[in-house]
Amino acid sequence: GAPVANVAGIGRAASQGILFKGGATADALAGVDTIMLDKTGTITTGKMTLSHVQDFAGNEDDDLALLAAIEADSQHPLARAILASAKERQLTLPEAPVMATVKGRGLASADGQYLVGNMQLMGDHGVNVDATVTDGINAIQASGDSVVLLAVHGEIRLAVGVNDVVRADAADGLAALKQHGIEHVVMLTGDNRAAAEHIAAQLPVDEVRAEMLPAEKLAAVQEAQAAGHKVAFVGDGINDAPALATADVGIGMGGGTAVALDTSDVVLVRPNFGTLVEAVHLARATRSVTR
Ligand code: ADP
Ligand code: MG
Repeated sequence: GAPVANVAGIGRAASQGILFKGGATADALAGVDTIMLDKTGTITTGKMTLSHVQDFAGNEDDDLALLAAIEADSQHPLARAILASAKERQLTLPEAPVMATVKGRGLASADGQYLVGNMQLMGDHGVNVDATVTDGINAIQASGDSVVLLAVHGEIRLAVGVNDVVRADAADGLAALKQHGIEHVVMLTGDNRAAAEHIAAQLPVDEVRAEMLPAEKLAAVQEAQAAGHKVAFVGDGINDAPALATADVGIGMGGGTAVALDTSDVVLVRPNFGTLVEAVHLARATRSVTR
């Protein structure tokens, strides 16, 4: 009978590292027509490496050491790439000022004298960005990499480029989802537009939205729902938690932050796109049997 088929489907899912939380989740996933995905750590591996270091102020090693010291407590993949590079260069990290997280922007000291993050953060604090700095940033972004800026006392000292890699089966997986009747595939990211477009160009995505705050990712889910769509959101970060909670189905990428996985309705223990396709496939198969 139906319950047995349902249990068999869930059992098969579990053996493949797909955890459906709650009895109604598979059914909800079966009805999804729109998939929204975070970029960093979800579409990409999030195993980032430092690709460019451009100093504007003096001593590259000193500035990189300060940047690494400031990032030392951050769990962001960008921070981990910066720390790995400082370690590789065998830099001694200075004492860092106390920093607070600025959502979707980076890190700032309370007095705004130390800033680490993106252009928006610099703009928010009225930091002067001259032509040399703009050229340096554009050169990094042209290669599709993310940029992290360090500003001290209102001056940009350093820009680093960080390279991320698209998961090997992302393009095939997204194409398969479209064949499975997912009408809209949307990529959402807090990262800059150039980096977002560079990644999206490698994938069958219908829409790309960049430079988004966590609340804006949430709003994007709500907009799609208001337009009558059933939305699955796939994410890995704290910044995805509001969208994961609000989507019809929140799907957490294994290896992501605990907050993201706790908030999700489905957890993909193995973070890859084959598993995502299989989750949708199993959800639909389970529903067609139980109906
Ligand atoms: P995403 O994971 O989609 O990139 P986040 O909200 O985590 O979104 O970050 C948005 C942007 O804020 C990043 O692309 C980066 O520019 C900046 N940022 C966030 N955290 C840090 C950090 N620890 N160091 C430097 N930049 C950061
Ligand atoms: Mg992410």
